[in-house]
Amino acid sequence: MIRLVRPPLPVELAETLQRATEGVRSVPRREHAARARTMWRSRGQLRQALGHRLREFAPGRERCMYCGDNQGTDIDHFSPVALTPLLTFVWSNHLLACSVCNSHHKRDQFPRDARGRPLLLDPTVDDPFEHLALSLTLGRYRALTERGEVTEQVCGLNRDILTRGRQDARTTLGFLFDRWESARAAGDTATMSRVVRTVREQPFADVVQAMVRYSTRPGAEEVFADQPGALTVLLRDEFRDQLSGSSRTTP
Ligand SMILES: [Zn+2]
Repeated sequence: MIRLVRPPLPVELAETLQRATEGVRSVPRREHAARARTMWRSRGQLRQALGHRLREFAPGRERCMYCGDNQGTDIDHFSPVALTPLLTFVWSNHLLACSVCNSHHKRDQFPRDARGRPLLLDPTVDDPFEHLALSLTLGRYRALTERGEVTEQVCGLNRDILTRGRQDARTTLGFLFDRWESARAAGDTATMSRVVRTVREQPFADVVQAMVRYSTRPGAEEVFADQPGALTVLLRDEFRDQLSGSSRTTP
């Protein structure tokens, strides 16, 4: 899971959502959830428009905002419809998820702390790396906070298929970084750009991001002991600029 920046909606779409929320509110309170569900199911075009907006800021190639592995196919209600029907049509409550994360792990779980604040991390609000540390060698998350622990458990972030995938992603990224470095040595800017584009579109954007972050922290040589070439590339300003999209080099 990585921090994502949610763009504002176009005015027309925001107004459509607003009217839908008024529609939910127009029935007695005890019927809100049923009404919200019926309305959500019947508004195919609206769901399509929202899905389009979510895919625009999803990690990599339209990946799930929780696991970062599968394609994001579902619109997840961060705070579930059953608990907060009035948030069914609220943009800030929508995330792009895969069906595994949405229907098999998170479902209607939405734990809160003693003061009623959500414990789950919202990648469009919270920086997951402040709550979860990723072991690059094991591909596993270790909780740094209570919210990190709850999120790891509710979303199943350490399920076997994800930890193995993250390990593979780290290996693949190592090869890609080596390729970038040799292209740099040859002055082959086209290949450098192509490699960076591939890195950006890899599943498990959390692995790249962890590598970038850990490369500048104390103990980086130890973390990258078996991938010293990767550390060299990760520390190059040129690479970091290209990765963050701030490079002015033409592809
Ligand atoms: Zn997922």
